[in-house]
Amino acid sequence: MTVIYPSPIFGPVHSRRLGVSLGINLLPQDGKVCTFDCIYCECGFNADHRPKQPLPTREEVRSALEARLQEMQANGPAPDVLTFAGNGEPTAHPRFPEIIEDTLALRDRYFPKAKVSVLSNATFIHRPAVFEALNKVDNNILKLDTVDEGYIRRLDRPTGKYSVASVVEGMKAFGGNCIIQTMFLKGRCEGREMDNTSDEYVLPWLEAVKEIAPRQVMIYTIDRETPCLELQKATHEELDRIAALIEEAGIAVSVSY
Ligand code: SF4
Repeated sequence: MTVIYPSPIFGPVHSRRLGVSLGINLLPQDGKVCTFDCIYCECGFNADHRPKQPLPTREEVRSALEARLQEMQANGPAPDVLTFAGNGEPTAHPRFPEIIEDTLALRDRYFPKAKVSVLSNATFIHRPAVFEALNKVDNNILKLDTVDEGYIRRLDRPTGKYSVASVVEGMKAFGGNCIIQTMFLKGRCEGREMDNTSDEYVLPWLEAVKEIAPRQVMIYTIDRETPCLELQKATHEELDRIAALIEEAGIAVSVSY
């Protein structure tokens, strides 16, 4: 069972960690569009979910968001966070920077205390307008699962040209104004062992994280069914061990088991 989200607005979703989160999905509602094709993606593999519908336009996103915020203002609940997530990579939308402008303005108007979060795989942070937009949101959450080029190609499977070194450079350019999100998992996919919980992967990744010096690191493991059925969760002990290394480096960390 994969999860394909409504578009452009979904939820709100209530969670202990985020509170009341209203989702903004810049991808079509009938499929998935991403510059990664992660073997653990809850939306499934790109090839199995090619959308036929177009991306929502900037105007469609703005008016749907405004209508929903007005409704929430009238009937509750107040959102704690407006979260860009959904069926793929939000920064792949060609009007992402303008949509962030609109969202910040609507947030200020209707729920000034709400945060704006973006979950991104960081493949477009080399574009100045995307970088600037991400730099303006409250929670600029960037995926960095490993710094091992070979492992990235098996785990995250970038669909285009990708260099982890330049992505790390791009992340460093935020000067700490980012949150790094990393998936740890084990098991098998397409006949190959997968495991990024050992020092072979954790230590070089930790060095890159120290250079990026993010405000926080969020580590997590698989939660829902994944398109590769033989993947396994990282254990509590493994996640706690990695979290302790991050803390020792003086960086705030959160763990979702
Ligand atoms: S980056 Fe996110 S949306 Fe894209 S394939 Fe990976 S998990 Fe799925």
